[in-house]
Amino acid sequence: MSVTTQFKCGWAHFEITSNCNLACVYCAVSQPWYQGMNLAEDKARAVSHWLLKNNVPNININGHGETTIVKGWTKIIEPLLSSSARCHIITNAAKSFGQEELETLCKLNSITISCDTFDAALYASLRRKSQLRNVLDAIATIRDTAKRLKRKPPKFILSCVLGAENSPSLEDFLLKARCMDIKTVQLCSLTEYPLPPESDFKLNPLSTLSKPELARLNELLASYTVTQDGFLNIHPGILTEIQTSLAC
Ligand code: SF4
Repeated sequence: MSVTTQFKCGWAHFEITSNCNLACVYCAVSQPWYQGMNLAEDKARAVSHWLLKNNVPNININGHGETTIVKGWTKIIEPLLSSSARCHIITNAAKSFGQEELETLCKLNSITISCDTFDAALYASLRRKSQLRNVLDAIATIRDTAKRLKRKPPKFILSCVLGAENSPSLEDFLLKARCMDIKTVQLCSLTEYPLPPESDFKLNPLSTLSKPELARLNELLASYTVTQDGFLNIHPGILTEIQTSLAC
């Protein structure tokens, strides 16, 4: 790879694939026009080499798709994990990880799991091709593997797309995340797409909540932000959407 930079790259997102094993109702992946693709293995290795050569200090091994469905993903990222770079991944944790995959996951600084609720039925409706128990099993198994390997376990982060249907159970989600020693919960804004084919369930924007519901949500978010401990990370678009809807 012959790309050179005149600036210091502090963070890189390394997208090995934009394909996904899930079809979440609110995601572009579920739209009929979506086309994912894999990075060819030689190109993936070249990107990895470039990141190492340029001493990029933080690497997120994810773009839009699910990295762990790519055959040989552990081998592709191994050179990065053996370097001084801080490596992170975003995964839906839907698959059952093999031993080699678990050991690779243990070497990451942080693992962000996309999970929007701890209500099992709602999780299944939103994610469509996975169950909440897969996420809980993945967290426990990765921690157990790290313990067996005598490694410090990766930090776990939950990434939650917040909409009208999962906002009523948000407080329960945050309380359980704290109990599970989740480092941070990221609340992400919903990007609206048409209802995907073969789906009868939609995650609607927060603006469809009633004013009392919005006010309760606003109060809950404010109670977490005053603690300033970094546990809750709210996308600014969520606060703007709530404030705008309350002001209407
Ligand atoms: S897991 Fe992520 S990329 Fe895959 S369908 Fe769901 S939201 Fe989209």
